[in-house]
Amino acid sequence: MSDYERLRQLDSKHMIHTFLPLETRDRTIFVKGKGCNLWDVAGREYLDMTGGLWLAQIGHGRPEMAEAAAKQMSTLEYATAFWEFSNDKAIALAAKLATLSPTGLDVVYFTSGGSESNDAAIKTARLFHAHRGEPERTWILSRNDAYHGLAYGGGTATGFDGLKAGVGPGIGHVHHLTPPKPFQTWRYNGQSTTDFCIAELEATIARIGSKNIAAMIGEPVMGVGGMVIPPDDYWPRVAQVLRKNGILLILDEVVTAFGRIGSWFGADKYNVKPDILVTAKGISSGYIPLGAVLMTREIADAVCEGHGFPVGYTYSGHPVACAIALENLRILEEERLVERANVMGQYFSDGLQRIKDLPSVGEIRHAGLGIAIELVADKKTGQPLPDNVIPDVIKRESGVIVRMANENVLVMSPPLVITESEADRAIEAVSSVLERVRADGSISSAA
Ligand code: PMP
Repeated sequence: MSDYERLRQLDSKHMIHTFLPLETRDRTIFVKGKGCNLWDVAGREYLDMTGGLWLAQIGHGRPEMAEAAAKQMSTLEYATAFWEFSNDKAIALAAKLATLSPTGLDVVYFTSGGSESNDAAIKTARLFHAHRGEPERTWILSRNDAYHGLAYGGGTATGFDGLKAGVGPGIGHVHHLTPPKPFQTWRYNGQSTTDFCIAELEATIARIGSKNIAAMIGEPVMGVGGMVIPPDDYWPRVAQVLRKNGILLILDEVVTAFGRIGSWFGADKYNVKPDILVTAKGISSGYIPLGAVLMTREIADAVCEGHGFPVGYTYSGHPVACAIALENLRILEEERLVERANVMGQYFSDGLQRIKDLPSVGEIRHAGLGIAIELVADKKTGQPLPDNVIPDVIKRESGVIVRMANENVLVMSPPLVITESEADRAIEAVSSVLERVRADGSISSAA
């Protein structure tokens, strides 16, 4: 029996995979990574154009990261951040994040990932108002097609009904608004995307009552929702309405922070100042689970009043995770990878122009190295391409890994270290399959 078959059988028997039907037979079992490449147990090489799950900013298999981890593990492998206990690496990382992040977000609470961070952020927003004498401010505004993780708090804010079916009630008082998808003009009743969204936001605040709303949560650019790039005036105008009504803005930057969209934070790119900013993924480039919730001093003061912050995770401020994140940030800065995301994003956009007139391609857009191809069944109406197997075919034919977001948006979010020749290979692989896509989502075989 081959190594692959042995592992495949064990996997089928003992592991649950998110979004994988039980009857699915095949697995892609990775054993090694370097730069933008991954290798499976049978020795096949892949080009990782998703950067894992939007996170491998500095690329796979970097020895500097292994050294940072080994050094920290042999010095101090764990320390709690409950009560008065702290550690040098967590302190250094908190201070570093305060200097990199938008002005004013000076205080950090560490978690182990995006879902935990969003739960902490939602609690933080409600606590802030409660401690300031407005406990009735509990409502959270979110958006359809938002992804804020799959724990109960952030998971309720997530805007895909299918992800909530069968798990009973989520947290209370969450309302979903229309997302800003300029490409899908039919959503906005003939108004500009931003005008429509702002009018809806104002009407919703009037209906729920501003005094009952704690915060609005949103991704600066929606990732899972389909690499949704809002018009430039969307976030500044949303922030203005929220501020006028005493409602906090939580930016979920789990995908967008640390260079993915060509800026350190989406808040910088869209010129908006959140009260709370949620990060994970790119903070460690995936070398270790880590998340961080950044907030203003005013919020931190309010939520820590009395008995202190009532949110706590065993691994908050984990010294190994923080040492790894510090090394990751050093590499991002030294290799100027945030700037590189813009250069290479443009390179992709130029290279993909050759497929822009294909019947299935509605729009090609990018923010830094978040690249999206909106796939349509009908180019005139922009109606989405039905469910399809495009990523599977691309992987099978060329070993290039891409994914679909929101079912009809082909997304690439490669490591920021990607080279031009790797980008060329990905563009060729994607183009050669999209050239064969039919209006029902099926694909004709390669010539
Ligand atoms: N927020 C956003 C914007 C995300 O894209 C994700 C994960 N894709 C999460 C939160 C959840 O993060 P995690 O899977 O680390 O819990």
